[in-house]
Amino acid sequence: MFVDTAKIFIKAGDGGDGAVAFHREKYVASGGPDGGDGGKGGNIVFQADSNLSTLSDFRYKRKYIAQKGENGRGGRCNGKKAPDLIIRVPVGTVVRESESGRILADISDNEPVVVAKGGNGGWGNIHFATPTRQTPRFAKPGLPGEEYEIQLELKLLADVGIIGFPNVGKSTLISVVSEAKPVIADYHFTTITPVLGVVNMGEGSSFVMADIPGLIEGAHNGTGLGHRFLRHIERCRLLVHIVDVSGSEGRDPKQDFVTINNELEKFNPDLAKRPMIVVGNKCDLTDEETIEDFKNYIESQGYKFFPIMAAIAYEVKPLLNEIREQLSKLPPVVRYEPDPAPVFDGNEFKDRKVNVTNRDGVFFVEGEWLLRVLRTINFDDSESMGYFQRVLISAGVIDALKAAGINEGDTVSIYDVEFDFVE
Ligand code: GDP
Ligand code: MG
Repeated sequence: MFVDTAKIFIKAGDGGDGAVAFHREKYVASGGPDGGDGGKGGNIVFQADSNLSTLSDFRYKRKYIAQKGENGRGGRCNGKKAPDLIIRVPVGTVVRESESGRILADISDNEPVVVAKGGNGGWGNIHFATPTRQTPRFAKPGLPGEEYEIQLELKLLADVGIIGFPNVGKSTLISVVSEAKPVIADYHFTTITPVLGVVNMGEGSSFVMADIPGLIEGAHNGTGLGHRFLRHIERCRLLVHIVDVSGSEGRDPKQDFVTINNELEKFNPDLAKRPMIVVGNKCDLTDEETIEDFKNYIESQGYKFFPIMAAIAYEVKPLLNEIREQLSKLPPVVRYEPDPAPVFDGNEFKDRKVNVTNRDGVFFVEGEWLLRVLRTINFDDSESMGYFQRVLISAGVIDALKAAGINEGDTVSIYDVEFDFVE
């Protein structure tokens, strides 16, 4: 079975904890705090691997958890950063957050991509020493690493996608123009995995063609094999639509053309608008008149038409030249940009649970949900800061701080953010 989707859980490493320690040395009076910071947790990194062609590795291993950063130690020793956990996937794998469907990354080139960031290490007690607080007996725990339930989806990278009913000669065409050797036979669905072939046009020019299993009516809603393969031509710059112009299986070529176009439209309207060249195959099995009639039908709709006999590579060259010509004017293969993280308006956090503790005059605020908010705040941006304040008010954080006895000028510490309390 060809596996081109998978659902997995990823969690980046938590940050190491900051240390509480005091300098002790012979003859040194009143050692100060010297607890070091925790190390950063490992990231979850995705890396394309051209040796992989399916997502089958993910059928049995579904949890990927990176290591925690090392804890800080006394003597000003900071903990080590944990190594990144690298997940290898086939080129063209799109990573989405399962719940929202938002795209986190498109692993389509050699660049490694950090999809879940490791948590920062917590501060050691060195950071909390002030003239009035010389022996801070607290440090900060590391922040949790980001975690996601994700959906992996392989979308092949090809310039040209070949589409059409089963048995019209799609695999035959790719086998005569490239080194790809898909199974060819006169029964339906011989092609059960997409096949990529490189077509060399000489003088260093080439393009990549994808042969996908044939589509049949209703394919878009899963009633036949074929629908799920449409995703593999979603990135294609150009479609080559092959029709059995001889109607050798008893269907009407014009109706075939309409049916497949409807399937594309239903699956993804964008795909239906993709530039398309129409090929009439099996010309040996019909007469000039039928071919001419079909050609007129196609050309009247504004498409270029090429009659061929794929099995003997007859008249294939003009088709390839046209493909090359059109590709030279088309934008490159689609790469997906990550979707922005959701924006909150401040009210969705109304009356959340917060925990405030006063340790030597530092007011620590904790609440799992605050971590999510903090990740979205840009502390250099006044609008973003304004939003942060609204969240603190509406979620009841300010009230909780007052209830804990905070005074003007006291330090508020929310995970890795610290500020002075001002009314
Ligand atoms: P696919 O399902 O669209 O990939 O179709 P295949 O490439 O597997 O071809 C289906 C059948 O049509 C095979 O038996 C081929 O040999 C045959 N075929 C392909 N091209 C031609 C052609 O130009 N003329 C004739 N008569 N048969 C062809
Ligand atoms: Mg085939």
